[in-house]
Parts: sequence; structure tokens; C-alpha cells
Amino acid sequence: MLIKPRAKSQLLIVMEVLHGRMQLPEQEKQYYLVLKKGYEGERLNDLWIEKLVEERLVLHNLLYEVNNSQFQIDTLMLTQDTLYVFDVKNYEGDYSYKDNGFYNSSGKEVKNPLHQSKRCETLLRQMLQTLGFNIPIESYLIFINPGFHLYHAPADKTIVYPTQLKRFYQNLNTKSSKLHERHKKLAQKLLSENIQESIYSKLPSYEYVQLQKGISCCSCQSLRTSLVKKQVLCHDCGFTEAFEAAVMRSIGEFRMLFPERQVTTNRVWGWCGGIGSKKVIRIVLRGNYRFVEKGKYSYYE
Ligand SMILES: [Zn+2]
Repeated sequence: MLIKPRAKSQLLIVMEVLHGRMQLPEQEKQYYLVLKKGYEGERLNDLWIEKLVEERLVLHNLLYEVNNSQFQIDTLMLTQDTLYVFDVKNYEGDYSYKDNGFYNSSGKEVKNPLHQSKRCETLLRQMLQTLGFNIPIESYLIFINPGFHLYHAPADKTIVYPTQLKRFYQNLNTKSSKLHERHKKLAQKLLSENIQESIYSKLPSYEYVQLQKGISCCSCQSLRTSLVKKQVLCHDCGFTEAFEAAVMRSIGEFRMLFPERQVTTNRVWGWCGGIGSKKVIRIVLRGNYRFVEKGKYSYYE
């Protein structure tokens, strides 16, 4: 049973919008691609978990804080006797392992995911103790991408390599699990301890004038869209979306990027690249937001 579904992180959503509307500096662009790839890898792992039978409680995308240390968990799976922690890596290509370190194909050392995974387990254990729960934890570092290879791979039982995935999940599936009230209590506690990520310090700097205006395609993020018979049509992938839904989504982007700015007809119209008319934008705003009358400073909230 899914207690907390996977959703794109707020950070990934904002980076995706910025990437579609401005030329990101190279470092930020790489950061965005890493986030995107990580998310895709997590989704692939979710598909394996969805196939599991028996009673299990699953929570995705968690962020906790213990003793001023934050730690992120891709997936927690609570079964009768064990709390599983899955850390998913979507690494691709050849890596090598030596002297307790991970190196990519160009010989550059990358953060050791095994250390990250162990740190996570330790902090989670501390958190559970503080909350008064005592359940064995098993954590696994899952390399999800079939194109990943690790030379001199350590024979660590907590690592699941791409060729082992099928067997790993088949094996999990053979373990019976019955859940009781105490499991539900723990899952609720794990959900309520989740904190919100503060993203604004991690974003590149951007200004309204820098960003390309227009309604982005909700399928491929292209800004080459136009209004055709009350539908926003993407000229790159052919996807269409109802005008009102597309405007509402664009307002969502605007508010996320500029939380300090008020929403007005002119601003939304400008943000949407002048698509449609101010009159139809006003109709959408009136239908979905509360109008705050302040003469020429009126806005919607
Ligand atoms: Zn498209």
C-alpha cells in the first residue's frame, strides 16, 4: 500500500521550468540533468516495488532532520519484521571501485554512494529510537541502470547491481508479511516527520526579464505552442492541453518562481507570452482565484 507516492521534488520542478525558459549556466545545467536522471531512476525502481505482493507500506521521497543533520530517503518499505531503505542510483557507464572510493570512467572520484547510504541508515536508526520505535532496518543501494558497470565491485550484500535486480525483488516477494496497527502507526509517524526541502538557496539566480515567456508544453516543456480552438497546441510534439488548464499551470510556474509577486491579469498574460487575449486570461483568473479589489493595484490570490 502506497502511503506517500513519488512526486517530482520541488527543486526538480523549478529547475525544469528554468531550464525551459533560460540558458542555464553549465554547472546548473549539469545539476538539473543529474536531478532529472535521479528521478527517472527512482521511477524505474518504483515499478519493481509496485509488483510486490503481500502487505507492505511504502513511502517515497522523504527528507528528515536528526540532530541538525538532514538526510534524504528515496524509498522506505515497511514490512512485518523489517523496515527497508532503498537508495536508488541511476549511474550509467563504467565506474571503478578502489580504496573505498568510486571513480567514473574519466578517473574522477565521485561521492561514495555506499557511505551516503550507511549515513542515512544510521540517522534513520537514531530517529526511530528517539520516536520510540524498534524495528530492524535493512538498507540497500540499488544501481538501477542496466548500462552501469562497476569494476572491482565490492562484494557488499547491501548493494544491488542491475543484473541482480530481478532476483532481489523475487526474493523479497517470497517473504510473507502481515501488518498490524503498530505498523500503521509507525508509517504515519514516518510520514509526519517528513520535512519540506528549502530549495531557494540551491537555485541559480534568475530575473523575470531573463526568462522566455510563453505557455510551455506540459509533455515536452517546449515553448513553441499556440492557441488553436481553445487548446494549447505544441508544435514540437503535437500535445494539446485545454487553454484554462494550461494557463493555470503557467500561473503555478509563475508563483513558484516569483513568490513575492502578485498575480494580475497583465502579468499572467505577459508570462504566457501574450497567448489568447487579456479578456480570456481575466476569465480564467476570475473563475479560479479570489479577486482583491485595490484599484489599479488589484490582484488575484
Ligand atoms: Zn510538446
